[in-house]
Amino acid sequence: MAGPTALVSALHEELAAVLGLMPDEQQQMSGGRTFWRGHLHGHDVVGVLSGIGKVAAATTATALIERFGVQRIVFTGVAGGLAPGVRVGDVVVARQFLQHDMDASPIFPRHEVPGYGRATFDADATLTAHLTQVSDKVLRELPAALGNEVVHAFGLQSPRCHQGLLVSGDRFVSTTAESAALRAALPEALAVEMEGAAFAQVCHDYGIPLAVVRTISDRADDAAHVDFPRFLREVASRYSAAIVEALLRG
Ligand code: SAH
Repeated sequence: MAGPTALVSALHEELAAVLGLMPDEQQQMSGGRTFWRGHLHGHDVVGVLSGIGKVAAATTATALIERFGVQRIVFTGVAGGLAPGVRVGDVVVARQFLQHDMDASPIFPRHEVPGYGRATFDADATLTAHLTQVSDKVLRELPAALGNEVVHAFGLQSPRCHQGLLVSGDRFVSTTAESAALRAALPEALAVEMEGAAFAQVCHDYGIPLAVVRTISDRADDAAHVDFPRFLREVASRYSAAIVEALLRG
């Protein structure tokens, strides 16, 4: 691999868990962001927070590619489950991305990104297949290691790994009405978050492979805020670190 692998997290707790795996990280500032350069299982890596929302995410992706020369990007974070059966504690690996709040109609069809002639962008097939394989394994093994109390508190008895469409927009979706509207407009969508599709568009522009995995933290409904910090600390960060570790070890 000619250049480093970027390990991107959406939130501080997750990045801290990933940085905890690196023996030698050194920080470098750019564009108001802290980039952590180091190694993990012999791979050159750059860890960074994406920032929340599509603009912050696109800027981070561009800096990783232009300034740090990354050759592939792996993104871990949390998301709200949309499709029936995508539950808290499940994991979604993105095959495709779409900006659910992109709407230049009637000039362009709803959701189409002007200038691209398309609404969806693809994840890299090879990197995503590998990410799915390790996510599946982590899901089978990790909940037991988190302990009974955590498993019961969040209902992690039989977590599943889903693959498909991930949708992004500049909105934390936290009402039942809003998630129902998203499901109606985009019946294929598995989960909603705020950064993935922005990374996908930038990676498409530069021809850089991207893979994204999201732990489901909420159902994007009226209960979406419940226990978020605890879930992040005790479940999502552990999933992210274990998945990244397994991905680079393999
Ligand atoms: N409470 C957090 C902020 C969370 S913002 C804090 O204090 O930092 C939401 C983050 O989680 C974003 O990165 C987004 O990608 C993801 N996310 C999780 N559930 C979501 C939902 N229901 N709608 C939109 N984004 C969600």
